Amino acid sequence: MNLETLAKELIKIESISPNDAGCFDVIEPILKTMGFESQRISYKSVENLFAVIGSDGPTLCFLGHTDVVPTGPEELWTHHPFSGEIQDDHIYGRGAADMKGNVCAFIEAVEIFLKDHSLNNFRIAILLTSNEEGEPKDGFIDELLEKLKDQGEKIEYCLVGEPSSSERVADTIRIGRRGSLSGSLKIIGKQGHIAYPEKIINPIFLVSDLINTLKNKEWDSGNEHFQPTSFQISNMHSGTGAGNVVPGELSMDFNFRFCSESTSNQLIDQFEAVLNELNLKYEVSWSLSGNPFLTTKDFFINQIIASINEITGHEPVINNGGGTSDGRFMVAMDSEIVELGPLNDSIHKIDENVSLTDLRTLRDIYIDLIKRLAT
Ligand SMILES: [Zn+2]
Repeated sequence: MNLETLAKELIKIESISPNDAGCFDVIEPILKTMGFESQRISYKSVENLFAVIGSDGPTLCFLGHTDVVPTGPEELWTHHPFSGEIQDDHIYGRGAADMKGNVCAFIEAVEIFLKDHSLNNFRIAILLTSNEEGEPKDGFIDELLEKLKDQGEKIEYCLVGEPSSSERVADTIRIGRRGSLSGSLKIIGKQGHIAYPEKIINPIFLVSDLINTLKNKEWDSGNEHFQPTSFQISNMHSGTGAGNVVPGELSMDFNFRFCSESTSNQLIDQFEAVLNELNLKYEVSWSLSGNPFLTTKDFFINQIIASINEITGHEPVINNGGGTSDGRFMVAMDSEIVELGPLNDSIHKIDENVSLTDLRTLRDIYIDLIKRLAT
């Protein structure tokens, strides 16, 4: 099945995280026909597909996902989000760019490669999850990787299919990502009647110095691969609703996107030191959703850059911005990790779409890459 037909079929499936909703039922038989051996590995409520072809040698693994984020208001879409409609060389639908289209590009690349090559001392694997976009409580890919490690699986090269491109296809690759650390803070004051300032402690006033300090604080200065760690506040709430009551508490949610110059423990210590310095009464809870990672060996990176050069005639830039990705879990497999996928300008938005020409370019880059690694 060519990538266009397969992409259309997958986009029609409403696989909102953490549900695969039958995407694997479409993909698995195609891989089996090509000679892959596959297994479904479930953890918590999430299903995953791991398929591999070749009996020995180093392994190139494509890491992807079949789940998608919710559509938002469907009436705002010019093409139904689960239609897979094609207009002017672009296929539309939730997950077209992130990342069903690219899963299809990789599958077709392997299919074309296998038509006139056999795998000698090289293996190709595909690892697909259905909870890349979803809530961590539904299950992390790290448990699945533990199972694969128990089975003796090794993945030397991991190609993450996330949409890395910025202005034109394959203009950007990622070889690392920042970490993400979230926190919920409660500032404790003293509730009371607004007319009796001597009997109350207003948590909204307490937080003003805190916000100012956090806003101006330099957590680290970044390095050649990462921008400096950034701190942001996402939600803040206080007040009882009544006009004559000063509230007793203020709650605030915040997040660090942190580079490899800081650890989560260092950030926690620095943050709590600020609170203590201001003599605030508080409670804080933390959740770490990913540590930063960086591929430092350059063999795989250089192969991908050479393939991009060969197919597109230009050299990609390395940029490690953006959110976290499942690539971070592959550190546990000791893999060299590179992310290369389509343009990310429409992902998670109304009218998400991807250019079919771009997907074919990615397919050709992947074929070239497999040839470089496997032959
Ligand atoms: Zn994605």
